[in-house]
Amino acid sequence: MKVVVAMMKHETNTFSPLATDLARFEAWGLHRGPAVIDAYATTAMPIGAYIRLCQARGAEIVSPVAAEAMPGGIVTREAYETLAGLIVDAVAAGCDAVLLDLHGAMVAEHEADGEGELLRRLREVAPDVPIAATCDLHCNLTQIMIENCDALIGYKTYPHVDMAQVGDQVARILFDKIDGKTWPVMNWTSVPLLAQTLAMGTDDEPMKGLIARARAMEAEGLLAATVFGGFPMADVPHAGLSTVTIANRNPAEAAAASEELAAMAWARRDDFLYRHVPIADALDHALAAGAQGGPVILLDHADNCGSGGTQDVMGVIGAVIDRGLTDVAVGAVWDPVAVKEMAAAGVDATVTLALGGRTPMPSVGLGGEPLILTGKVKALTDGRFVVRGPMYTGVTVDMGPTAVFSVGDGRVEIVVTSHHHEPWDLGVFTSVGIVPEAKRFLLLKSRIHYRAGFAGLARATITLDGYGVTTSDNTQLSYMDLRRPIFPLDRVNTP
Ligand SMILES: [Zn+2]
Repeated sequence: MKVVVAMMKHETNTFSPLATDLARFEAWGLHRGPAVIDAYATTAMPIGAYIRLCQARGAEIVSPVAAEAMPGGIVTREAYETLAGLIVDAVAAGCDAVLLDLHGAMVAEHEADGEGELLRRLREVAPDVPIAATCDLHCNLTQIMIENCDALIGYKTYPHVDMAQVGDQVARILFDKIDGKTWPVMNWTSVPLLAQTLAMGTDDEPMKGLIARARAMEAEGLLAATVFGGFPMADVPHAGLSTVTIANRNPAEAAAASEELAAMAWARRDDFLYRHVPIADALDHALAAGAQGGPVILLDHADNCGSGGTQDVMGVIGAVIDRGLTDVAVGAVWDPVAVKEMAAAGVDATVTLALGGRTPMPSVGLGGEPLILTGKVKALTDGRFVVRGPMYTGVTVDMGPTAVFSVGDGRVEIVVTSHHHEPWDLGVFTSVGIVPEAKRFLLLKSRIHYRAGFAGLARATITLDGYGVTTSDNTQLSYMDLRRPIFPLDRVNTP
């Protein structure tokens, strides 16, 4: 048995000014051929689960490519065609099954439904070959995706700590079909709901209850049940919440389940919205919480590079410094120029930098605004570490050349990186010599994924509303191509 195993993954924030080209895939991870196995066989990624399951089955693995870029702006035509072309060519060369590790929110210059188009091309070159795919919880699902694969499943956790489990689950569904044990049938339901990612954490309602129901459906015999929160920072027709179910031979059972989950989500639509808190009030709460001890987690969620943020917006960091918070570690600001300046000055040198603010954000009408800071270069590293926490376990993170900039007489230590990276693992601090447990405040450019590594040590978590292309206020973004009406942008009486 010959199985094509591949990963092609991107969450495209169409409002982000960061073009996603091949170099951006290479910065996070782009492997071809046998290097895919070396990079991912022992990881907690869906593709890791695929590789292990194929090895256990004694199947021949063909691994044309495994590519992922940090979330960002629209994928270039060249990057899309290069990566999709490698997978299509491998499948066209002949195989017995295809296992794909996808995101489900890829938008390319020439193709708004990146995954749907990839799956359509695969079906075109190999109409009879069974295909299974995992998608991220933030997938914007489409009819084309469903029509062109045999089994599609999404993560049930945010932060995404069950990636290998769902990879294993969907691959087994496909192998059981090949072995004649089951006949998977899918159904999906789209809900006109642009949910906020800050309201999609699976430890909180309403996702907690929805996921519990999906798990109960699987315990009762459904092969798979998924609730996709969707990715709202995408100006494409199909952005929004959806459900997808897989039943064994019974289309009516699949339909009833996907419709039930969709109805549950719609009934809770108000709870999928984030409520804005003025930053002055939020900083009051932070100071009160910090007085009890640390670490208190502060979230600069409007500039979360894990949703396509530029990671160099300095507004919230400036507010934290101005308010006089002490014993703060910031993870992390993207500014390769500042890292070079600090590297040239050397460890222990005192420097004045125009930090961050290098990326204009025309989609939200903002220019880049650096923060002028004087401080000490505390550390310089290569920015590499292996994830030990529960999300992306075993994957090597490369933040690029990295520095720690200590400002305000050591009150605030800022990790400055050369590659974009959302802090979801303690390694963002421990790899540069900062002990996160010992800090009173950890200011993270993150939304929910920080919970993977940091929730266990957080005394409290406070969201700080700044600005950026990952704003949690969807009304600040101008949608042109999104289907309308959609809640909460429009009044929608029935879905
Ligand atoms: Zn996600």
